[in-house]
This record gives sequence, C-alpha cells and structure tokens, in this order.
Amino acid sequence: MTPLPPADLVSRSLHSVWHPCTQMQHHETTPLIAVSHGRGAWLHDTDGKRYLDAISSWWVNLFGHANPRINAALKDQLDRLEHAMLAGFTHEPVVALSEQLSALTGNVLGHCFYASDGASAVEIALKMSFHAWRNAGQSEKQEFVCLQGAYHGETIGALAVTDVALFRDAYGPLLRAVHVVPSPDARLAGAGESAADVAHRAADALELLFQQREGKIAALIVEPLVQCATGMAMHDPVYLQRVRVLCDRYQVHLIADEIAVGCGRTGTFFACEQAAIWPDFLCLSKGISGGYLPLSLVMTRSEIYQQFYDADVRRGFLHSHSYTGNPLACRAALATLAIFEQDQTLTANRRLAARLTAALQPLKDDARVRHFRQCGMIWAFDAVLEADSAAAAGFSRRFFAEALKQELLLRPIGRTVYLMPPYILDDAEVDLLAARTHAVFSQVMEQD
Ligand SMILES: *Cc1c(COP(=O)(O)O)cnc(C)c1O
Repeated sequence: MTPLPPADLVSRSLHSVWHPCTQMQHHETTPLIAVSHGRGAWLHDTDGKRYLDAISSWWVNLFGHANPRINAALKDQLDRLEHAMLAGFTHEPVVALSEQLSALTGNVLGHCFYASDGASAVEIALKMSFHAWRNAGQSEKQEFVCLQGAYHGETIGALAVTDVALFRDAYGPLLRAVHVVPSPDARLAGAGESAADVAHRAADALELLFQQREGKIAALIVEPLVQCATGMAMHDPVYLQRVRVLCDRYQVHLIADEIAVGCGRTGTFFACEQAAIWPDFLCLSKGISGGYLPLSLVMTRSEIYQQFYDADVRRGFLHSHSYTGNPLACRAALATLAIFEQDQTLTANRRLAARLTAALQPLKDDARVRHFRQCGMIWAFDAVLEADSAAAAGFSRRFFAEALKQELLLRPIGRTVYLMPPYILDDAEVDLLAARTHAVFSQVMEQD
C-alpha cells in the first residue's frame, strides 16, 4: 500500500522538494520554514511566526516583500505581455531597462545581453570575452583568471572560476583549469599593513601572472569591493584601479561580477563606481528585479559589440535562453529602478547604514568578535572559534537555528556572520536587528 502523503507543508516539502545547497539529512535536526506570505522586511510562516529577512532572501530583495509599487507594475505588465521571445522581437520593458542601465554607466557599457540567473550571466561574459578575442584574430586568448575565494555561480563554466573548496572538491574533474590569484581581502593585512597595502600586494601578484601568460589570457573576473559568498571579504578600491590598469596594459578583459554587489548594495549603484573605473563586461542579477523574478544581464562596451557585428552568423554571439529578456522580469527591474529614483535610495541608505552601524557598536566591541566590517548595506564579523572548519560549520547551523527562535533570518557563512538587509528597515527594525543579532551571537557562543 502506498503511504498517505504527509499532512503539513514542511513534511510534504521534505518528501518532494530537493532543496538547494542543502544536505537534506540535516533537516532531521535543522528547521525548514514553510513561508505563507511576506510583507516588507518580514517573512511569515504557516504557524503564524515571523522572521526579519536580514539577508534579503539570499541577497535579492531590495525593497521588501510584497512591495506595493513593484506589485502594481507587475499587475499592469501581466495584462499587457507576459512573455515574447527576444530573437526577432523586442518590447518596451527590455528596451527601457537597457537604456536606463546604460545611462547609469554614462553609456560606457551601452549594450545589454539578457539571461535569467547569475551563473548564466557569468557564462555569457566568459563566452563573449573568448569570442570577442577570436573575432579580433586573437584566438590564442583562452585562459581565465579568478581570485582566491571567488564565487561566480555553480554551473560548470561559472564553477570553474569559483574558488570555494567545498564546490571545487566535489566537481573538480568536470571543470576547466583556470588561474587563481591572491585575494585583496583586507583581513590578510599583516602587522602595520593597511587594506591598500594588501590590495597592492595582490595586484603585484596578478601582474606577474599577466607577464608570464602574456597573450594567452582572455579575461579576469572579480567581485568588486566585496567577495560575498566566501564570507564577505572586503577590499580597498585601489585594487580595482590597479586591475583596470593591468588589464589595459596586458590586453585582458575585465569582467566585474556585480551580481551581489550591484544595485546599491555597496553604497553606489555599481560597486565599480567607488574605484572610478568601468569593466569591459559587467554582470548584474539578484537585486535587479527587486527580488521578484529571475533576471540577469551582461553589459558591455561598443568596441566589444562591434567585434561581433558582421554579415557572418558565426561571428555573432551564439547564446540564448528561452526566457531571455522576459517582460515581467524587466518590468519588475524598471519598477525597482524607479524606486531608487523616487526615494533617493542611495542617499537614504547612507543614513540607514550609519544608524545600523551605531546600533551594532556593542557587538563590534565584543571580545569574541573579529574583523567587524561594513561596506554600504553589508555588515560582517567573524566569530572567534576553534580553527577547524567543523567548528565553523557547527557554529553557522546553530546560529541559524537560534536566530529563527529570535525572529531573525540570518545564515552565517562558516564563522562569518553577516547582515544584508533590504533597504526599507525603519528605526525600530534597525534596533531590533542589532540587539537580537548580538543576543543570538552570545547565546550560540555560550553553548560551546
Ligand atoms: C549569487 C552569485 C552568482 C550566481 O547567481 P545565481 O543566480 O545564484 O546563479 C554569481 N556571482 C556572484 C558574485 C553571486 O553572488
């Protein structure tokens, strides 16, 4: 006899849904939350409990859940056009979005190529770089460079330029070899060294590689200002300035993966603005649709676009996804950009960030906290724990569970606790977030 299906949503999910980046057996002890609805910064579950979404649901949600302005735009779009293929056809939302994003780069990156998720945008940038060099008669440029601790997504091409040991160890044999250069992570500063010193040291190592492999490297890919997935590793903007100069000198494309750091997360709309540079390719996703719908894109320069412009189909960029440029997703992105404009979000965030930083002062002063750091709307610190990785894994799972008990959604990366809240917290939410984060931290540290 077939067993009856389980009754509650959590059991049904564990029965039928394979959850991402999850050892499913851990759900024997780690809670799975069944969300019924979201409002503003809060997620509500089917048991009537609520959680402050302090990591913006994996860094995507900028203006809260069920945002009235984004909802209205999507409802309007739904009655006009839900989707049309983007080969041979175009539509207002994709055109307007491309124009507005290009304008935000002063039209330096004037051409937008669309996909659905971040990893696909990275795949596109890598393929475009290689193909642009080949169209320019430099087909020997086939190598890619990434940074230590880099994260660019988990499809096979993107995973090749990702340096997260867990993922690389599991799928290493499937991946193409790439060069991994030192990270400019400011935490690597030795006694008497500044963040800028670390950045220069990392840039010097990159230059050495560019010299050794001259004429062979197609592109360098970086997460500007903050390497998020490795544990919010922050670096001095001078690194990006050095990298821009080196890429020009050695004729290497610079790919800025702004999937996590773009859309105001680091304080400017694009992180690259803080170094006053533009890359050759810029990848955006996550926050661009306000956290509503899967959307990603790669922006590039006209010099690169022109490399593909030809009568020959084989010189064109050979890449597509079924949902490329989906009108609903583009409309959500337009509504998101409109909020930035109407609410002067980048300015308002400076005030919000200062308030949260001040509220976090007691945590910063806690002796069990190391490397308290902040960049725009990202805060992070490392727990002082035993050195081994098992201690860090245990810490992050216990922290997640304890945070839920105190109405917070927080998922530390190993020993690194970080906050990446939506941009709409009010003062009471700021104070609650700061106080409870510290309370959860103390609770978990005392369990040891
Ligand atoms: C999340 C992320 C990606 C991958 O995006 P997905 O939509 O998860 O495929 C790539 N690069 C960076 C920097 C990211 O943070």
